[in-house]
Amino acid sequence: MGCTGNVAIVSAWAKVMSSRNLEDLSHDMMRMATVHKQLCKAKGIELLIYCTLRSNEEQDALYEIGRTKSGKIVTNARAGQSAHNPDEFGKSHAYDCCPMISGKPMWDEKHPSWKIAGHCGEEAGLIWSGRWSGKLKETCHFQNPKWGKP
Ligand SMILES: [Zn+2]
Repeated sequence: MGCTGNVAIVSAWAKVMSSRNLEDLSHDMMRMATVHKQLCKAKGIELLIYCTLRSNEEQDALYEIGRTKSGKIVTNARAGQSAHNPDEFGKSHAYDCCPMISGKPMWDEKHPSWKIAGHCGEEAGLIWSGRWSGKLKETCHFQNPKWGKP
């Protein structure tokens, strides 16, 4: 369920990389991402946002991993059930990111920079799924608190 493997899994199975383009984020998310980055920078951490928008096709392909396809389950969300999937305007309400130390992504989620990045995201107004428990916990994942609400 960790975030580290996702990039490789997506490219292997769906053969389409998720977008890492910040312009694929909703306006709210773009604004919060900017604040998130600034807050992290003030603590000496660069943020690498490596996944923003994920197409519905790609979401369904991910869902099959560990079910009809071999491998460990990586997601519990089908197409349309993840905040990464396109909204009515084709925008994402979530991103996955990783702290960078000396210009290199720090993939070890136990490193203290992950917690700092999480707290900065919350300060920026995002929901940090590093707080979620059990299978839903994803230290890399931040989403719009308004997503999925009318
Ligand atoms: Zn995510």
